[in-house]
Amino acid sequence: MRNSDFFNHETDYPELDGERAVEHLRQMLRFETTSYVDTSRIRYEEFDRMQAFLREAYPCVFRRGEVERIGYSLLVRIPGTDPALRPALFMAHQDVVPVVPGTEKNWTHGPFSGDLADGMVWGRGAMDIKEMLTGILESAEYLLASGRQFRRTTYLFFSEDEETCSTGVRAAAALLKERGVELEFVLDESSGDIMDAADYGAPGTYVCTVGTYEKGYVDMKLSVHAPGGHSSNPFHGTSLGILSQSIAAILEHMPQAHISGSVRETLRRLRPVMTDPEMMDLVDRQDEPGLLRWFLGRENLYHLVTTTAAPTMIKGGSAAGNVMPQDMEAVINFRLTPYDTPQSLLEHCRKLVDSRVELTLVQQIGASRPSDTDGYGYRMLIPVLEHYFDRLVFIPVQNRGATDARHFESVCRSVFRFGPFLEEEAISGEGIHGTNERISVRAYLQGIRVLTGLMEKTCIEAVN
Ligand SMILES: [Zn+2]
Repeated sequence: MRNSDFFNHETDYPELDGERAVEHLRQMLRFETTSYVDTSRIRYEEFDRMQAFLREAYPCVFRRGEVERIGYSLLVRIPGTDPALRPALFMAHQDVVPVVPGTEKNWTHGPFSGDLADGMVWGRGAMDIKEMLTGILESAEYLLASGRQFRRTTYLFFSEDEETCSTGVRAAAALLKERGVELEFVLDESSGDIMDAADYGAPGTYVCTVGTYEKGYVDMKLSVHAPGGHSSNPFHGTSLGILSQSIAAILEHMPQAHISGSVRETLRRLRPVMTDPEMMDLVDRQDEPGLLRWFLGRENLYHLVTTTAAPTMIKGGSAAGNVMPQDMEAVINFRLTPYDTPQSLLEHCRKLVDSRVELTLVQQIGASRPSDTDGYGYRMLIPVLEHYFDRLVFIPVQNRGATDARHFESVCRSVFRFGPFLEEEAISGEGIHGTNERISVRAYLQGIRVLTGLMEKTCIEAVN
């Protein structure tokens, strides 16, 4: 199956000017808004030029919206007529990742060319994520220009440094919080992975992922101090032995796995198309231990129900076979479900390891709060997606990476990571953060229809 085989209702919004939308994206790709951790390397004048272009390209949005610049990030507020409705927020980022020096020549069309060739728009940012930035603006501009009235106040937010430090989104979220704004829902990039649901006992059905939270991230260091010495007398064990046993103990006794609300929602949605008798039985009997065994035994599913541990670094082995090693260190990288916190994980591991092992958290970010899949935003989003992507079952999962979106969790319970630009996997896999980033005109325009449909339903009609 190709992703475009799922496209449906591509003739919706015939008045939406696709050619102009493509032209806008091409121009956007020509601004070199590359992000660097070393901010002295950032060409801020490119951000200025790009924003001047946006004001010209989307006159209704920038005239009717209240525009605030926070650093180089842009927050646009389109006021709604019904103050009782909590605002919605659509977001993307202006920055792009660097083109690896020396790889420019590998691009069929230059990374900042914005070329249109073979039905594709080429350039760094075509899929991550200037297509969503212009897509959001095309939608809002189209609705405003056709005289539609926003009932729900609608924010558009375009951060400046999603790929590096996320200072833009932090500042914007803090500002909204300070103003007492509480958002109904947020839509950001990411997810949209399509796969056969065979692992869920529903072969032949295709699922598409909607990111509803992010797992946490912990790097835990295990250190052992030892004097070393001759290996003929290892009575007290060696630092390497102690470290290995402790790592093994942690891997063998991971924190309790859980069937979360989003997994439950996935099983509920897939139950009607399941054909595997074992899975159907597990779901019908709500057999939690059985379901956990099912998930934990499958490479594509286990990470949905458990915190994972990957020992990644080791340092300090002896240089000779007959010498006991001295001080040694190892690092285990954990990805945390929302059921575990960095602190609870640390306590859990302390009980497992040898008393001579010292544990330190060198990096720690807790899991984000799972978004509401019963709430208004999700209830509205799914039917719109089903309208434009036929025969896909949309399922809520943890997002595969970190995005800016989690910072809005302080002002919103429904933060969704779903870029509706479902380019073929071979193309997006090669291009995103890689070489020959490009998007087909077809996937681009379909994504705009999704955004327009969602904005129309939730912000203009504000249907319940
Ligand atoms: Zn991105």
